[in-house]
Amino acid sequence: MQQSNELRLAVLDGDGIGPEITPATLKVLNAAAKRTGLVIRAKRALIGWKGYEKYQSTLPEATKKALDEHEGWIVGPTFAGEYPKDDPVRGHPNGFIRRHYKLFANVRPVQAWPQLDPLVPEVDITVLRENTEGFYPDRNLAWGYGEFKPRDDVALALRVITGEACDRFARYAFEYARAAGLDRICVVHKRTALPQTDGLFIGAFERLQNEYRRIAIELVRIDTFSSSFPRDARHYRLVATTNLFGDILSDQASGLAGGIGLAPSLNAGPEHAMAQAVHGTAPDIAGKGVANPSALILSTALLMRWFYQRTGRQACRDAAELMETSVRRTIESGDTTPDLGGAASTEDFTRAVMRMMAKP
Ligand code: ATP
Repeated sequence: MQQSNELRLAVLDGDGIGPEITPATLKVLNAAAKRTGLVIRAKRALIGWKGYEKYQSTLPEATKKALDEHEGWIVGPTFAGEYPKDDPVRGHPNGFIRRHYKLFANVRPVQAWPQLDPLVPEVDITVLRENTEGFYPDRNLAWGYGEFKPRDDVALALRVITGEACDRFARYAFEYARAAGLDRICVVHKRTALPQTDGLFIGAFERLQNEYRRIAIELVRIDTFSSSFPRDARHYRLVATTNLFGDILSDQASGLAGGIGLAPSLNAGPEHAMAQAVHGTAPDIAGKGVANPSALILSTALLMRWFYQRTGRQACRDAAELMETSVRRTIESGDTTPDLGGAASTEDFTRAVMRMMAKP
């Protein structure tokens, strides 16, 4: 039976540096949980190569069951498409997971860190990206592919925007803002050129405005955003936008903030949320014990915030804050892994983060 202070999570190591950074993340989470009155029950399951080796599937049935049975998941990086051709998930467990569990919102906070030598040190923005439709021809039709070439010199791409997806995403954005204590959402669009599709998107936010009176919406054209963000980064704290725009804007923000090195992300759906770092499997350093677990730890902090947003459990928010400040302070202390110029191993760094939790 689940106790009220208990949080049950599925934890999947993944490929490359995944088996190094995922256990490190779990240690940090357990330490934070202990201090904030939570008990973490982790169900480990296989994804990626290890799943294929044991069960001939990069997403074995036992793993799907673990995902079904747990609301929150911590997932290490997986290879993009290097799996054998007979794999039932056809190469990309992540894509399958996102579609199958309808993870419709991608949360990408981007912060400038001095260690990454940022172009714009004021960057502190969260990009909320609709994750299920838009200009993605591989996923936006029930049948067929959303890009066509009727003649050799004519190509068409189809952007799909539905009221249903806009409504659930807009509500998620308002709930996110409320839980994060933010009073404004910048809705980034190009309604001038795409009046019907972006009209639907904006309409979803405008309709909810009455329910969330303390949170303002600011409509910002994507061209205006792109030119003003580098000069006026402080103005933008929370952006909500459609799929392709979100992809581009979050990378633009990361570039200005010094790269994706420490960037966390969360993919959230109606029933589940998945913490996953933005970086990949880092095969060049896998197995060497020097991978930086910060991005996955910060992604897991986002997962704790999702639980807070969903249930109002203060201990989840406290755990998130503790993890975030401990990672930040450890990195500021210079006790870092080699990617940030230090000499610490993954284990050293993990211990340093946990020690930092004990400091006032
Ligand atoms: P993939 O194909 O899985 O995307 P990749 O090597 O193309 O892998 P990343 O995994 O994001 O892309 O790695 C890019 C660079 O950043 C590599 O040099 C890698 O070692 C480094 N890197 C990525 N993640 C980390 C990490 N957590 N700690 C230290 N270095 C990292």
